[in-house]
Amino acid sequence: MHSRAEFERAEAHTAHNYHPLPVVVAHAEGAWMTDVDGRRFLDLLAGYSALNFGHGHPSLLAAAHSQLDQLTLTSRAFVHDRFADFTAALAELCGKDLVLPMNTGAEAVETAIKVARKWGYEVKGVPADTAEIIVMSGNFHGRTTTIVGFSDDPDARDGFGPFTPGFVTVPYGDLAALEAAITPRTVAVLVEPIQGEGGVVIPPEGYLRGVRELCTQHQVLFAADEIQAGLGRTGTTFACDHEDVVPDLYVLGKALGGGIVPVSAVVADRDVLGVLKPGQHGSTFGGNPLACAVGLTVVELLRTGEFQARATDLGVLLRSRLEALVGHGVVGVRTRGLWAGVDIDPAIGTGREVCEALMARGVLAKDTHGSTIRLAPPLVVSPEDLSWGLDQLADVVGASA
Ligand SMILES: *Cc1c(COP(=O)(O)O)cnc(C)c1O
Repeated sequence: MHSRAEFERAEAHTAHNYHPLPVVVAHAEGAWMTDVDGRRFLDLLAGYSALNFGHGHPSLLAAAHSQLDQLTLTSRAFVHDRFADFTAALAELCGKDLVLPMNTGAEAVETAIKVARKWGYEVKGVPADTAEIIVMSGNFHGRTTTIVGFSDDPDARDGFGPFTPGFVTVPYGDLAALEAAITPRTVAVLVEPIQGEGGVVIPPEGYLRGVRELCTQHQVLFAADEIQAGLGRTGTTFACDHEDVVPDLYVLGKALGGGIVPVSAVVADRDVLGVLKPGQHGSTFGGNPLACAVGLTVVELLRTGEFQARATDLGVLLRSRLEALVGHGVVGVRTRGLWAGVDIDPAIGTGREVCEALMARGVLAKDTHGSTIRLAPPLVVSPEDLSWGLDQLADVVGASA
């Protein structure tokens, strides 16, 4: 078969920093992907939430196609005519003053770190080069050397030191530990409102409100990494909305690029992002015309509320179907909106083995941390297709029991 040969060819010429399922995708539409042999697969990963609006959403494709014919790149040395529309719309969606566009999620996190440090020195009055940023156990914020330095995942971290100092780790979900870690040199708390890569780990009710209160009380910036959790996935525009919490910095990425181009951003008020002056930060591709055209359309789609509502409604189905599996090949389930972490009973097999069995049945999903499967279907999936996909999971975990 075509697929096997293509897969082997791809593996032969790349660094093995990924362990993909042996499928070679050639086409996709909505929630379905087709491989080089014409086999169809239901996508239950959605590019780790980068494809919240599904594959080939007509509005996003139209925006990209028309922008391609107009203008694709200027660099920020010149202003282009898609920049103001995008930044204004995104700032409004976030209820903030200013947007700093970047490309990848990791770059947005790096940007938030730089802004927080500069704010700490210039606004809070922290002595030079002593700023501390508090991060969470089990975090995932990207793959740069600074970011992996404050990961506690040995695969992400080991062998890549020496690391950037200035980060303090506390247990995720523990407000007392957070409060105890705050010092006069603390400039920011960096937190995922739900830890996606960690296995869709949802903090205790009231945690985000508590983080907000502690940050306000101690003059510390609350930076919410909404790269995977935000932009409709959990049934609200931002995962912080579930606790009516507004962070000081929104860190966005993934779905902001509509599954077409990498688009990330830090969004904050003027008193925070205003610390950056010309020459102090930048990116050649950040905020390019194609990215802005796609990003603006993403904001327009989110403004309708349609996708948030779909995530909420489909999330009810997802939750009830998954909870019925607990005790039947599944030992635990966590869901919020159309997003789930499913802990597979080790007696059934590893998460990887379950994903391989799902693939054989036409369903693509991804394991994380050995025994957990993360489900993040495109928000455009139909209830029937989702239900069918969950039938396959039920069969796989039950059939092997
Ligand atoms: C994916 C992710 C990142 C990194 O984004 P990249 O675009 O892969 O650099 C950062 N934070 C969170 C929470 C993520 O899920």
